Amino acid sequence: MIHDFTYLRPGTLQEALSMLADHHKDECKIICGGQSLLIVMRQGLVVTDYLVDIKGLHELNYIAYDEKQGLRMGATTTHRTVEKSELLKRKFPVLVAVESKLASIQVRNWGTLGGNLAHGDSSGDLAPALIALDAKIKLSSSKADRVMPLEEFYTALFETALNKDEMVVEVQVPPARPRAATAYSKFNLIENDQGIVGVAATVEVDQAGVCKDARIVLSNAGVTPIRAKGAEKVLIGKKMGDDLLVKAGEAAPGDADPVSDIHASEEFRRHVISVLTKRMVRQAWEQAAKLG
Ligand SMILES: Cc1cc2nc3c(=O)[nH]c(=O)nc-3n(C[C@H](O)[C@H](O)[C@H](O)COP(=O)(O)OP(=O)(O)OC[C@H]3O[C@@H](n4cnc5c(N)ncnc54)[C@H](O)[C@@H]3O)c2cc1C
Repeated sequence: MIHDFTYLRPGTLQEALSMLADHHKDECKIICGGQSLLIVMRQGLVVTDYLVDIKGLHELNYIAYDEKQGLRMGATTTHRTVEKSELLKRKFPVLVAVESKLASIQVRNWGTLGGNLAHGDSSGDLAPALIALDAKIKLSSSKADRVMPLEEFYTALFETALNKDEMVVEVQVPPARPRAATAYSKFNLIENDQGIVGVAATVEVDQAGVCKDARIVLSNAGVTPIRAKGAEKVLIGKKMGDDLLVKAGEAAPGDADPVSDIHASEEFRRHVISVLTKRMVRQAWEQAAKLG
């Protein structure tokens, strides 16, 4: 049963931020698409006095790209808009690929980028891909804006750095690099649902085919998205080869902290992290080598 609450519907971002400022000492939650929040409210896990509905804030519904500043996507942009974006197909195809396997079309039509990231579910698909792309997140309150690496936004299980008077307003991704590519895959039992684990990998290569930079990010492998820094170190400065991929695959579970649950054992999760790391690094590396 959902407990009673006062429903607030701001017409502008400023109005939304002043509502959050007015009620930040009460139990006050933002709702956007409601695709995650309504589930936990129905379960009684979230009880709130005020619900601020930001779904109608069209000023935060945008995808913009600039060669110098990179990509900016507003918080109320739906998953489906990201999936269908021609711009993203050209510049950041991994985001389109991630979205096409995220939930069902119905959920993607209503659920949003900001809601997915703010929900703080470590099995979410967008955060690992965006962290692999070195994304930042912009948070606003009525007093100030701040921008932080998305990697630092996640603090604990379903916990983020968001203060009670703040909301997520934008995601920022640096300009696409000429010889870099990103790949993401999850292993799931039910198609288009959260994965048992997932792996995102970005690989940047130089003209000689040597790995200049790598970012590997794991989903559902701990309480937050996790960088597999051990595997990244294995790759940087090396040329691709089967032995190197095996070493990176062996290193990746070393940074993970997966649990055993009804879906999979810890041991199985570690095995899949290893397999997906090899596959995603290979995929990203081969795509990067074809560019530029
Ligand atoms: C059947 C089903 C399958 C799913 N499968 C997947 C999947 O495969 N992969 C995946 O990643 N996700 C999946 N999800 C999760 C879901 O799609 C997203 O988490 C959802 O789209 C969240 O967006 P929303 O706008 O609905 O957020 P809401 O449910 O409205 O809000 C979610 C949380 O974020 C907060 N919030 C919302 N917007 C903001 C904001 N701008 N600033 C600050 N806080 C905010 C809310 O207070 C709440 O805590 C699935 C969900 C369902 C129902």
